[in-house]
Amino acid sequence: MNKPKILIVDDERLFLNIIVDLLKDDYETFTAKNGNEALEYIKSESLPDLIILDIVLPDMDGFEVCKHFKKSKHTCDIPIIFLTIKSDVDDETKGFEAGAIDYITKPISPAILKARVKTHIALMQAHKKLAQHALDLERTVAERTRELTNEIEERKTIETQLRFLANYDLLTKLPNRILFREHLDQSIKQAQRNKSSVALLLIDIDGFKHINDSLGHHQGDVLLQAVADRLSVCIRDVDQVARLGGDEFTVILAETTDKKSAALVAEKIIKTISNPIQLDRQEVYISASVGITLLPKDTSDPSTLLGYADMAMYEAKAKGKNAYEFYTSRLLSRVHTRVDMEKELHKAIGTKQLQLYYQPIFKTQHGELYGAEALIRWKHPDRGLISPVEFIPIAEDSDLILQLGEWVLEEAIKTAAHWNKVGEESEFHIAVNMSSRQFQQDSTSIELVDQFLSEFDLSPHLLNLEITESLMMEDRHKVINKLNALDKIGVGLSIDDFGTGYSSLSYIRRFPINTIKIDKSFIHDITLDSEDATLITAIIAMAKNLGMNVVAEGVETAEQYRFLQDHGCDIVQGYYFCKPVPQDKFEKDFFKLLQSV
Ligand code: C2E
Ligand code: MG
Ligand code: MG
Repeated sequence: MNKPKILIVDDERLFLNIIVDLLKDDYETFTAKNGNEALEYIKSESLPDLIILDIVLPDMDGFEVCKHFKKSKHTCDIPIIFLTIKSDVDDETKGFEAGAIDYITKPISPAILKARVKTHIALMQAHKKLAQHALDLERTVAERTRELTNEIEERKTIETQLRFLANYDLLTKLPNRILFREHLDQSIKQAQRNKSSVALLLIDIDGFKHINDSLGHHQGDVLLQAVADRLSVCIRDVDQVARLGGDEFTVILAETTDKKSAALVAEKIIKTISNPIQLDRQEVYISASVGITLLPKDTSDPSTLLGYADMAMYEAKAKGKNAYEFYTSRLLSRVHTRVDMEKELHKAIGTKQLQLYYQPIFKTQHGELYGAEALIRWKHPDRGLISPVEFIPIAEDSDLILQLGEWVLEEAIKTAAHWNKVGEESEFHIAVNMSSRQFQQDSTSIELVDQFLSEFDLSPHLLNLEITESLMMEDRHKVINKLNALDKIGVGLSIDDFGTGYSSLSYIRRFPINTIKIDKSFIHDITLDSEDATLITAIIAMAKNLGMNVVAEGVETAEQYRFLQDHGCDIVQGYYFCKPVPQDKFEKDFFKLLQSV
């Protein structure tokens, strides 16, 4: 360890030498003969740890030297011991005032000198240590404070994030169901205070499940973000948009909202959402259905309010989508029916309640039986016969359609195979309707078709799967792959209800479709409306050109039949010939015919 440094200032050499001699073993000593020499040390790099300073110096007195040392911030902490001739009280007082810590009288007692120096060096070192310690402590405190501040900041960020996650939807950054409920409660309270009203709008994208399945989830997400952005621009600052989940959004119109202004916002929303949305590879068009309920007119209970908006939204969908509806008490009983229906349909699958009816299909020219279309019927124990138009959409909203579709496929193929065996020489075709949902399900539907055909030994070309035009408008590659797979198996593929969608024959020809089935709405007027007649004539001609078969469905009169005969339509189906009938009735009525053909 380095020895402590001591500066000794005295003009008398003798004293200097004595002091140096006494201290040199334990300390590093420096000397100065006068004040100015001593003051040089103020600027020095290696400062003394202690100064022994004679009061009487030739150029200035010791007090002055002392004051200089005390004035500089580098040297003010260096302890200074004065040397005085004798114990002079005045000198002592002056010395202490100038900043000295001690004094030693001349003649010097070596023991006193050593003891004092030792004490003050020790004191000085203790002081330094203490100062260093204080400094370290200060630094530690500062560091810890910084760490704590960071920790607090971090915690705050996490809390903010957690609060965001708990209250907002990550995808659209809109408030989620929880925050929506808070907003709704607040708006309701405020409306009650101000005796005003609140409107709640529930917005659901039409056919979103479909879009999501066909475009892929990523594109579905982009679409939902676009919808969220559009909704946000349709409302005022005081209103609140939220995403409840999936494709369901809400808008709370706060304060003094009457029916008219709620309707205006709904119209604006529907219009804005229907603008094309640009996705990666394509532009898509979507629509939304909006349900509206008003508080306090309909109810004052927040949970009921949402339920009512939901019913109104379903009503808008049932009426053709892309529209808004207000809640009315009439809807309440209707929705109960829908929910009950779904539950009951679930139970009905696999029981005698579900049955396949068969409607015969004939070759147009000579009226020979061509086959039949299998059409599902639900014989409800209390409600009687329920039309597929009513329950198929409910099944399509859930996975029920998959079970239902599988059952229809198996049953229809089994029956057709049986009829083909009975009919021996003839070929009996069976047409089966396939829902888009069924079609979009991985490869199961194709495997099932293959499996049932071989299980019941039905030649694939005798099965006609009817799909809708809307399916063609979805993800083309996926659809083409599936249609090709079915085509490879050898089954016939028809476009059902042709003309009700937006596809054209030139578009359809890109798919392996071999039959188009003209929708009954066109057939209805062919003998009355010349425009429809022209259209049908053109469709038949074009389809034939493309090598497709043309089926006319919904033929109800002899005139319609004749028209179709005259214009080269291949196949006909309709009430004019026969309504759909149960299997046993079909066998009774058509088997003789079947065998005679
Ligand atoms: P679709 O496939 O277009 O079936 C033809 C519909 O027209 C049938 O109604 C049939 O009874 C009716 N129809 C037949 N001839 C005439 C006629 O001359 N005039 C009139 N006005 N209507 C006629 P249905 O059986 O009520 O079926 C309605 C729709 O329900 C079907 O339309 C089809 O889209 C769907 N559907 C029926 N069964 C099934 C099924 O097993 N699976 C699926 N996914 N959908 C089915
Ligand atoms: Mg059909
Ligand atoms: Mg049809």
